[in-house]
Amino acid sequence: MEIFDQIESMGHERVLFCSNPDVGLKAIIAVHSTVLGPGLGGVRMWPYETLDQAVTDVLRLSKGMTYKAAAAGLNLGGGKAVIIGDAKKDKTEALFRCFGTFVESLGGLYITAEDVGTSQEDMDFIHMETKWVTGVSQSFGGAGDPSPVTAFGVHQGMKAAALAKFGDASLRGKSVAIQGLGSVGYYLASYLKAEGAKLFGTDIDNGRIDKARSELGLEPVGPDEIYDVACDVFAPCALGATINATTIPRLRTKIVAGGANNQLEDADRDGRDAHQRGILYAPDFVGNAGGLINVYNELLGYDKDRAMSMARGIFHNMARVFEIAAAESIPSYVAADRMAEERIEKIRQMRPVYWDRNIRRQRKL
Ligand code: NAD
Repeated sequence: MEIFDQIESMGHERVLFCSNPDVGLKAIIAVHSTVLGPGLGGVRMWPYETLDQAVTDVLRLSKGMTYKAAAAGLNLGGGKAVIIGDAKKDKTEALFRCFGTFVESLGGLYITAEDVGTSQEDMDFIHMETKWVTGVSQSFGGAGDPSPVTAFGVHQGMKAAALAKFGDASLRGKSVAIQGLGSVGYYLASYLKAEGAKLFGTDIDNGRIDKARSELGLEPVGPDEIYDVACDVFAPCALGATINATTIPRLRTKIVAGGANNQLEDADRDGRDAHQRGILYAPDFVGNAGGLINVYNELLGYDKDRAMSMARGIFHNMARVFEIAAAESIPSYVAADRMAEERIEKIRQMRPVYWDRNIRRQRKL
């Protein structure tokens, strides 16, 4: 009964357990909310050790997507899927096509995408069975690598944080310490360099550091030393949970704003701690929505300029979070949730009126 309790407490609309022993498929699709639109979120392939771990992950991640889409102002709800398996050994065409049939069975309530352990090739297999998939090859209308759009949005969110903290959105002459110089971190560093920021950065891959040093003039520091760098902005762009009880006391920054998902190890504890220490936290799901904006544009018929212009709106979304936080004297991570929840609630209230009017119009016809 615990699974039902979890679903009830988190408010999911629908959870579908997918099984096909012939192809070895064990998957779960969770649709958290479709108030704003279809629940969009990636399908993660991971060798979960227990069913509980898989359920907890898919419920938590799908709820996160609801908030990300709502805060970004998109007509999308929240959904996510997990395939229980080892991405290095267990992938087959049949597995992904079979998963595609389950996505199709939801009739558009859930739209899938790439995530940890899945690739564009896997999305192309899913696409053979359903149109409710994004991240497909460009020949099928896919948008390609979302990282530049994500990084552009993170940069915009960072500028909004600078405006709130320093009274000026410009990052010229400001110092930024970037943790992780992969796809998002590197593009972010390029935008910051173009604006005239002073860059520090780290990665566990020396090749990534060398590239950023030689091409962008970034000053390298060790993976553990990054927390001690005196800077204006600390930008987590590697893994989640790097803002925690151990690292916050070490931070010598005024702002935390980066691309990684789930930056706070414990949202309440760490979000509050950063707030009390005077560190302005730019909520991750508001700042890193550029990737979601990119796939949303795939659904509209992809246009890179429109995707970039929508990602520019992250500046205003983030500024709104800080306005709410200041007006209500609450930490920014609470304000971000409130902003997303208010939008969902307003649209939920509007819906019956809209539907009623539509039904009456159809009756007249
Ligand atoms: P990526 O794999 O290209 O880059 C991550 C980099 O972090 C790698 O270079 C890796 O070597 C480095 N790294 C790993 N552990 C590290 C550590 N302990 N210290 C320093 N560096 C470390 O991934 P990405 O696509 O750039 O994504 C980065 C983060 O942003 C992830 O958390 C991802 O979930 C999130 N995100 C990405 C997108 C996107 O469009 N790619 C969208 C939204 C959120």
